[in-house]
Amino acid sequence: MTNKDLADLIFPNITKTIADYELEYPERDLPENAKVTRFSPSPTGFMHIGHFMPALIDYILAKQSKGVFYLRNEDTDKSREVDGAVIYIRNVLDYYDLNPDEYEYLDTSETKGNYGPYIQSERKEIYQTFIKHLLIEGKAYPCFLTQEEMDSIRKSQARDKRRIGIYGRYAKYRNLKVEEAMQRIKNGEKYTIRLKSTGNFNHKFKFNDLVNGEMEFPENDIDIPIMKSSSGLPTYHFAHLVDDYLMRTTHVVRGQEWVSSIPIHYELFKTFGFKMPKYIHIPLILKKDGEKVRKISKRYDPEAKMSYYEEKGYPKYAVIEAVMTIINSNYEAWREGHPNASFTEFPFSPKKMSSSGALFDLDKLDNISKNYISHLTKEEVYNDVLKWSEKYDLEFYDILKQNKEEGLAIFNIEREQKKPRKDFACYQDVKKQTWYMFDELFDKFDKKYEFQNIKDKEEIKNILTTYFDKYYDENDTKDTWFDKIKDLTDKLGYCSNMKEYKQNPDKYKGNVTDITTVIRVAITSKSQTPDLYEILKILKKDRIQKRIKKFIY
Ligand code: GLU
Repeated sequence: MTNKDLADLIFPNITKTIADYELEYPERDLPENAKVTRFSPSPTGFMHIGHFMPALIDYILAKQSKGVFYLRNEDTDKSREVDGAVIYIRNVLDYYDLNPDEYEYLDTSETKGNYGPYIQSERKEIYQTFIKHLLIEGKAYPCFLTQEEMDSIRKSQARDKRRIGIYGRYAKYRNLKVEEAMQRIKNGEKYTIRLKSTGNFNHKFKFNDLVNGEMEFPENDIDIPIMKSSSGLPTYHFAHLVDDYLMRTTHVVRGQEWVSSIPIHYELFKTFGFKMPKYIHIPLILKKDGEKVRKISKRYDPEAKMSYYEEKGYPKYAVIEAVMTIINSNYEAWREGHPNASFTEFPFSPKKMSSSGALFDLDKLDNISKNYISHLTKEEVYNDVLKWSEKYDLEFYDILKQNKEEGLAIFNIEREQKKPRKDFACYQDVKKQTWYMFDELFDKFDKKYEFQNIKDKEEIKNILTTYFDKYYDENDTKDTWFDKIKDLTDKLGYCSNMKEYKQNPDKYKGNVTDITTVIRVAITSKSQTPDLYEILKILKKDRIQKRIKKFIY
């Protein structure tokens, strides 16, 4: 009995060879130095920022080099799979225009690219071909350790402070006679297939990671499982080897947590004589929590989920920009010099990534976003808010749809000027900050009138009636309007000249801002709003009068 007999017993239906697959997946015909990158999430839940950051890098690397960015669904762990996860991931990529060049979507049966299937569970035969090859060469073996045996090995290793894993004397089945292995399999014993590691833990090798530079690791000597017994599917490590080799990936962008697996990957690629791709191990994403800085949590921090940004209506530009600033610290300086360039033109450098962690700051996102929205045209804001609200706030959607002219006018307040007003960080803010301009909302909400210095109802009534009966004219220009306000201020015993007021505050009932505040609050209920003249202009006489009347009586 030979290794070949054992391999045939385990994989009777595998008849192809590695060489067959190498022909099927030839070197890609791409320009020199073109990069082939992949985004390869496991469909185990929602898409989070720890996925988004590598996906952005993958996308940039491929676009800049006229390479290929493909999506691979790493669904080898069927027990952890979440329904719809892939659809969601695709939607996020779509939303941010990070569309992969090659992909496969089961729900729509869409597929593109010659290096598929792009779904790992559909590649079983390919992995098994590679595993069969190792079995024939005596570089892998079936291992019959039971779960209980492995648990007890682990426990004793932990107790004796030894390295955890199946290596050396713990690798009980590594030298089992072929006959015995075959007999056990025929008897129906359960097994996994393990790599027969040839590494020596006391030997070190050098490895170049594009972020961390040259690193040194001890060789792997653990007989890692390469095929799971339950599904016949490979482990992550083995699928990484086979897929990134056959799909001709040049750059693997993945989380820091994989750095510790490099010895395993190094040995796997060496065993087959394949060239390793280049690796960009991205830093952990951190957040400030009070005084502390900690890892962003998928479970507890809503902003870790990409859905957070869509639900709040952050423009995709702002989200991409905010993430780019934590990818490379020189991004902001580059952006200042290239205000209109696409982020894909940024000369990303893995060396400029922080290896200790990337601090993601929501305030920074808000600033980027406010700045961005402030430079949109009123039409762009209107259309963006309409699109967002159609999905997330139907009431506001209906109002905007029916009041387009007014919406445009409202979004234009303090917009077309050198330093536009920056008050919307996301589209959800728009309703929060403009609701009082729409009668449907103004009439509906329970208002808390934020009167400031002047609180006396009679005085407020006097200011309002005098203003509207004697001074208000909807055709006034801004200058005339303000002259009239000053006039009114003085007439009522307040001071229209701030300098004078500051010198002799006791001589007056108050100053001009007290008067404008009363008018502002009576009309909007709020003490802080954009330009009052603009607001009056948009609301117009009838509506203003109605609001005043309602307020006074
Ligand atoms: N499926 C792996 C994960 O989601 C991908 C890691 C990689 O990019 O290789 O963590």
